[in-house]
Amino acid sequence: MSEITPHVVEMYGRRILLLSNFIEDCILPDPLIADMWLVNHQDRTKVRKFLRSVVCSHDMRVYLKPIYLEDSLRSFFMDDERVMQRLSDGFLGNADPLQIATLIDQVAYFIEKHGRGRKKKASQQEQILQYIFDYNYTRRRKIVPMRLHQSLTGYTYPRIDSFFFNMSDAYLNSRIILKEAEEQGYLKRTYFDTQHLCKSCNSGFLNYHEVCPRCNEHNLKASNLIHHFRCAYVGPETDFVFHNKLVCPKCSVQLKNVGVDYDKPGKMFTCKSQSCNHQFQEAPIQVCCVDCGTKQEPYELVVKKVYQYELSEKGIQRFLFNEDQVSLQHG
Ligand SMILES: [Zn+2]
Ligand SMILES: [Zn+2]
Ligand SMILES: [Zn+2]
Repeated sequence: MSEITPHVVEMYGRRILLLSNFIEDCILPDPLIADMWLVNHQDRTKVRKFLRSVVCSHDMRVYLKPIYLEDSLRSFFMDDERVMQRLSDGFLGNADPLQIATLIDQVAYFIEKHGRGRKKKASQQEQILQYIFDYNYTRRRKIVPMRLHQSLTGYTYPRIDSFFFNMSDAYLNSRIILKEAEEQGYLKRTYFDTQHLCKSCNSGFLNYHEVCPRCNEHNLKASNLIHHFRCAYVGPETDFVFHNKLVCPKCSVQLKNVGVDYDKPGKMFTCKSQSCNHQFQEAPIQVCCVDCGTKQEPYELVVKKVYQYELSEKGIQRFLFNEDQVSLQHG
C-alpha cells in the first residue's frame, strides 16, 4: 500500500485528487478517494509513465477514472503534449465544469452497470479490446491514429500502444488487434492515410535517394538541361553560364526568356563518385531505411493503409453486454 497522503480538493462539489506525489513514485492511487484526478507534475517522463500505468491497469475504476491535465503543464510536456492528451481526458481549461461533471457521472454509472461479474478475457488481445470498448464507450471517442515521430511507422494509437514495451511490438500488435476486431464486425473503420514502410522493419522513416544507374552511388550533381531553340543545342545549364548571363556555347547568342528563345527540358545528373563520372538524365530512386539501414527499391516497400475506428453495435453488445454466447451460437 502507498504511504502517500492523498491531496484532495473540492471543486464544483466533486473530489479532485492532485496526483503529483503519486506520479513522482509512479503509484496508482486508490480509485475510491476522489471523483476525478488532476495531473500536476512537470516531469513529462514521469507523467507519461504514470498515465501508461493507468491505461494498463486491470481495475476498471482506475483506467476509466476521469483524468485531466493542469493547463500550466503544456510548456513542460513539449512534444509529448498530444500523447498526454490521448492518455487522459485532456487539459482542464478545455473542458467546462458541466462536461467534467457529466463525465464523472457517466463513468460512475458505467462502472455500476458493467463492473460487476466481469470475467477476465482469455487472451491479452481480447483484454485490450475490452479496455478499448470500456474507455471509448464512456468517452464517446473514436480510435483515431495520431502522427508521432516517436513511433515505428510515424502513426500511433497511443492508448493501445501503451500496452507494449517497444515500438515494433506496439505497431504489430495494435494493427492486428484493430484489424481482427474489424473483420469480426466489432469495429467499423474509415480510411485515414496510406503509408510506405521498410520491407525489413516496418519503419516509416525512409530516405529517398536518386542514384547513379551505373555504380549505384547517390552522390550526384543535378543541373538543369537547357535547350536553345535557335540552334537546337541541348546541354547542362553550367555550359551556358557566362559572367552571370546565359550564353549558348554553340552559337554564342545570349539567352533571354525561358519559353521564348530557350526552355529547360529536364535535368542532367553527373555522378560524383570518383571512378564513375557517369552523366545521365533518368536517375533511379533507391530507398534507405533510417532505422535499420536496409536499402530497397520503391516497389519493395510495404504499402499499408491506416484507419480510424469506431465501436460497432455488434462490438458494444459483445464487449459491454456480454453477448458472447449468443454470437458464438449464431456463428
Ligand atoms: Zn556512378
Ligand atoms: Zn545556340
Ligand atoms: Zn528498416
